[in-house]
Amino acid sequence: MITLRSFVCADWHTGVGTPTPLYNPTTEEVLAETGSDGIDYGDVLSHAREKGLPGLQALGFSGRATMLKGLSAAVHEHREELIELAISNGGNTRGDAKFDIDGAIGTLAAYASYGKELGDGNVLPDGEGVQLGRTARFWGQHVRVPRQGVAVHINAFNFPSWGMGEKMACALLAGVPVIEKPGTPSALLAWRMAEIFVQGGLLPEGSFQFIAGRTGDLLDRLGPQDALAFTGSSGTGASFRSNPNLLAQAVRVNIEADSLNAAILAPDVDASSDTYGAFLDNVVRDMTQKAGQKCTAVRRIMVPADRVADVSRDLAEGLARIVVGDPAERETRMGPLASRRQLEDVRTGIGNLQTAAELVCGGADPIRDKGYFVAPTLLVASDGHADALHAEEVFGPVATILPYSGDAAEAIQLANRGAGGLVASLYSNDKDWTEAVILGISPWTGRIWIGSDRVVEQSFPPGAVLPQMIHGGPGRAGAGEELGGLRGLEFYTQRTALQGFQGHLKAAYGS
Ligand code: NAP
Repeated sequence: MITLRSFVCADWHTGVGTPTPLYNPTTEEVLAETGSDGIDYGDVLSHAREKGLPGLQALGFSGRATMLKGLSAAVHEHREELIELAISNGGNTRGDAKFDIDGAIGTLAAYASYGKELGDGNVLPDGEGVQLGRTARFWGQHVRVPRQGVAVHINAFNFPSWGMGEKMACALLAGVPVIEKPGTPSALLAWRMAEIFVQGGLLPEGSFQFIAGRTGDLLDRLGPQDALAFTGSSGTGASFRSNPNLLAQAVRVNIEADSLNAAILAPDVDASSDTYGAFLDNVVRDMTQKAGQKCTAVRRIMVPADRVADVSRDLAEGLARIVVGDPAERETRMGPLASRRQLEDVRTGIGNLQTAAELVCGGADPIRDKGYFVAPTLLVASDGHADALHAEEVFGPVATILPYSGDAAEAIQLANRGAGGLVASLYSNDKDWTEAVILGISPWTGRIWIGSDRVVEQSFPPGAVLPQMIHGGPGRAGAGEELGGLRGLEFYTQRTALQGFQGHLKAAYGS
């Protein structure tokens, strides 16, 4: 039995009290146990502030970039071992595991490259300087400096590797020490990464701490220079938003939460086109990769009403080719959900969707005696506007086809019923239709992926989150924003307006 320990105050801490079991979701066997009771979070924060902050800030941007490169290389070196953990504890297929682990490797490496260009200091120019006085002598320049606090990162269970890696990359490059807490059901992978980072001596003391379990009174102790970045359900996110200490101390809070992502097929897309092929491939991939437990996965598929029968048939054929089973077997394309709770939630969610839609394939019934399996489940609604289709993110291999007229206006109306999303994918070769939909859904959407015959052959699928582009979305999606190249550092830095002598400000801080 593996016991996950927390790494706090430069030491490994075994939780006291009753541990929480971690399961293999394929076999339901207990793999490990974890618990964080007994940690003094006052000490954890002091350690980060007193040791971690000065250690990190002494490195400057370029030194921290070198450090991130080392973290990326260490994950890469242990990739095979980490893949095995993602399979056993996360229910990931090998492909799912690589998506998560390579995501961390790539994002850490990307921020290492950004950091190399930023020099040895700790101050970044923010935009161009401006003349403020009668002559250019009196000048203004915005700058960004690392905040003198701690970044607490609370992650969801679905991306234990990438989720931790992408948050760490931005905070550490900015110069802020991190306290990482993974989602408990799949924490084995993140815990092993923490061990690799610590054993490799890859980070200055106090700059990285890891909580295997719950965070106790940590959030009640955060102060005005600290930050909380959270990924998970909107319910948990809302509870953090209303935390009295976080409000009173004006702690920065970034929330990445649920999303009813839309895929919208335009009426101009011919069934023989590359764009239609990409639409089918992407929807099937999104529904089944990581068993649909991806915040960016498509949940609502908008299809012109006269195409619904053909699209239902084509998607069902694609889903039938997905081999569901033990993710340790090479031919398996989709494994189980990560936990019993997820299985129960997804079954309930399918039932709720069935109040407004018919099953095309799959359903809530068990498909194996053991393990948290659910079949890829496609539904089709007769009325795409029914409330139940826009109410709940069913976090599994589940999506619903919503018929619409084909008009851009109705596509916009339906997409925005999601009340704020992470990503929408558009499939069209019609420039006017595409531009109308972009304008209509942008205020409600963090990222828009535009597939046409000119790009689908070269594009990453819409579910992939790239370090160059922002990740996050308004409303239900949490109103947060991460990544986006150097924009990802903004959350961990303070923008300050400097006003003074141009000769000084330009030379010292100009872009
Ligand atoms: P969750 O139940 O909200 O948990 C998320 C994280 O919060 C876990 O680490 C959990 O710890 C922790 N947590 C819960 N209550 C807490 C509390 N009172 N104090 C401190 N920590 C607390 O969500 P989940 O089931 O793990 O993840 C699934 C959800 O995440 C889905 O809704 C999905 O859409 C969303 N998600 C969003 C994104 C995005 O980028 N927008 C990405 C991935 C997932 P324990 O595990 O120990 O309970």
